Amino acid sequence: MSKVLLMDPDLANKIAAGEVVEKVVSVVKELVENAIDAQATEIKIELVDSGVKEIIVTDDGIGMDKEDAVLCFSRHATSKLKALEDLFNIESLGFRGEALPSIASVSNTTLTTNDGKETTNVVIDGGKIVSVKASDAPKGTKIRVKNLFYNTPVRLKYLKNLYVELANVVEYVDKIALSYPNIRFSLYNNEKNLLNTDGSGNLLKVISKIYGVDVAKKMIPISGSNGDYTITGFISYPEKARSNRNAMTTFVNNRLIRNNDLNKVITDAYHTYIPASKFPIVVLNIEVDPLLIDINIHPTKMDIKFSKMDTLKELLEKLILEKLEHRNLIPTLEAKEETKREESSEILKKIIIANEETSQEEDNNYNRLEEMQLDFDVCEEEVPLYNPNAVDVTKKERIKKMYPVGLALGTYIIAENEDGLYMIDQHAAAERINYEKYLKKMGTHDNHMQDLLIPLKIELSNTDYLILKEKMDKLRDLNFEIEEFGINTILVRSHPYWLPEYALEEAIRKIIDIVISEKEFDPYKFTEKIAITLACKMSIKANDHIEMVAMEDLLDRLRETENPFTCPHGRPTIITYSKYELEKLFMRSMEK
Ligand code: ZN
Ligand code: ZN
Repeated sequence: MSKVLLMDPDLANKIAAGEVVEKVVSVVKELVENAIDAQATEIKIELVDSGVKEIIVTDDGIGMDKEDAVLCFSRHATSKLKALEDLFNIESLGFRGEALPSIASVSNTTLTTNDGKETTNVVIDGGKIVSVKASDAPKGTKIRVKNLFYNTPVRLKYLKNLYVELANVVEYVDKIALSYPNIRFSLYNNEKNLLNTDGSGNLLKVISKIYGVDVAKKMIPISGSNGDYTITGFISYPEKARSNRNAMTTFVNNRLIRNNDLNKVITDAYHTYIPASKFPIVVLNIEVDPLLIDINIHPTKMDIKFSKMDTLKELLEKLILEKLEHRNLIPTLEAKEETKREESSEILKKIIIANEETSQEEDNNYNRLEEMQLDFDVCEEEVPLYNPNAVDVTKKERIKKMYPVGLALGTYIIAENEDGLYMIDQHAAAERINYEKYLKKMGTHDNHMQDLLIPLKIELSNTDYLILKEKMDKLRDLNFEIEEFGINTILVRSHPYWLPEYALEEAIRKIIDIVISEKEFDPYKFTEKIAITLACKMSIKANDHIEMVAMEDLLDRLRETENPFTCPHGRPTIITYSKYELEKLFMRSMEK
């Protein structure tokens, strides 16, 4: 029994297709989300030539009866959503069927579906139903989309090269796999397996499949809630920070979102733990009453607004800092290579970024994929269930006492204890100690002043002097007693007690520079800037000579800081070779 049905006017579909379906990834997204809606526990995505030739999505979901199998290709027939707000309200991923007619209108599509009672096969070419017949297939749905945009050459031209199309699909499938760890996802391109998750519900396992075991080992679970929000997920050790935000994955009620405010709260919580140009790896889900969010932006962009951002910020900050403050965060040098997928995935991400920056007009280069042999092997190593470093400890227990052995390259203190060997950057370590010291002293609002026996004359350039004159009270707030003194000169009569006596003029000049350059006065940021600048200036430098006793004192004081692991610029202060790693590297077990 086959019959030919005409769809809604083709043209409308094609126009819509241009909006909804513009890339391979938009097709994959639609098909995968339909599969999730159909309660699939296993979803297989197969691409031929990055999906440009063929996309097959197979699921083991509830399937459709014959009527629905035909209906789902007719426009406006199957949308379940009434309003945008429903997106975050209901189980459904939304827009089901919305894009399906569009996809079918610009490709050769075959649907085979079994709802447990009957199996139906529907063939559609360019939006026209060619055949509907009974078939035979396991329960679930399989959709094959061939020759995307074959009948709309203009759109075909807009597909970017095979790399970019594939990179976008990989990125999307990675994220959806992270949001559904209980679904088994597999992704293939030209029969090469690119991702394989086990559907066990273990998010850390999914993370290890995507970012590699090395990253998974350095992820810290977080969870907590306040009255409004519940947050669960993983955050990375500072050492795993990346140079872009691609690995910051956030979900709201399990739906992927991209929100700049949220990303900023997260990176701010890592302040001084990582350099300002870096971003942590996070996978976080935020549960919230849909009434507290505002979806005012295009639904495919997945950006939303939180109406109680301040309480969300407070919670998130608390959860992240709580973990960072109770872990041993010293980067460990290990004798091993990164997995191939990590590298290839990095290459793909770079292509995405490069492409976002370049113009749309690019030659479709369908051969490059074969030429360059993007070869990523799926990582099969398991995340160890127990990792001795992956436990919360008290602040004191984070680093055991270290005993200096000597100074290497004039810069790095070599130290040891029963756990292993340490290398400490003497400037970074001193800088952390001094930074926390200044920050604390400046925060006490102690207006203790130090009078100068001989007032200090500071001469400035004409412009600097004029700017400073406007901002004199900022210096007075810091407990400087100052007055104007002739042409472009100020006189310092007394200074805050915490300023170092040595290099006094230099320190005061640094502070004046900050006062002059500061545009908007955020008191905390201002204080912090001074603390960082003074700490950097006043700390022992690389190649400065340091005695053994001073080394030991430095290491002891470093251990007592709030964050002994990084300098205020986010650089590491300590790295370590554990005893175990050293034994491995020297193959000591051979002689046992
Ligand atoms: Zn410095
Ligand atoms: Zn620094």
